[in-house]
Amino acid sequence: MTDATDATDASNEGGPTRPEEAWRAATAEADGCRACPLWENATQTVFGEGPVPAEMMLVGEQPGDREDVEGQPFVGPAGRVLDEALGEVGIVRCEVYVTNAVKHFKWKPRGKRRLHQTPDRAEVAACRPWLERELALVQPRLLVLLGATAAKAELGPGFRVTVDRGRPMSSLLVEHVVANRAPLLDPAGPA
Ligand code: SF4
Repeated sequence: MTDATDATDASNEGGPTRPEEAWRAATAEADGCRACPLWENATQTVFGEGPVPAEMMLVGEQPGDREDVEGQPFVGPAGRVLDEALGEVGIVRCEVYVTNAVKHFKWKPRGKRRLHQTPDRAEVAACRPWLERELALVQPRLLVLLGATAAKAELGPGFRVTVDRGRPMSSLLVEHVVANRAPLLDPAGPA
């Protein structure tokens, strides 16, 4: 069993050294994370994916219903919206590392459907080491934060989406950071 607090252990003695190998190792570790209760009702951990390193990294809130089932971020309806949005600005998906601030799907039942629930502050904080691990591996020059949960995970609870969205901001880890109001690309998406 892995705890998310182990995720930022950079010593990695004897561990993989190439970025892709380090990413694979992180993915395998995150599969066993039990640092908050969200794993209990989810199908699997949905870690980020894409080139490592990458110029651009995009962070959503959490996996949605399809992502939870398929084990990949931004698939299904959310993935189609993302591909279209990226295409409009001349970016192809395979050039971008995509992930979520929280790696397990939080939901509540309504009939046969699973309704998206916003992760709380403790859950976002518990998952943050995985996001930090991804940032260290991907080393993006541009970090795009989609929605308030992703923005607060990276920029802190003082972020206000109504005030700060679209405004370039600074981060210790990344050269350029932009937060969007979305759930334009809400991975919960239409069911
Ligand atoms: S949501 Fe994040 S911190 Fe919580 S169990 Fe899943 S991977 Fe671990």
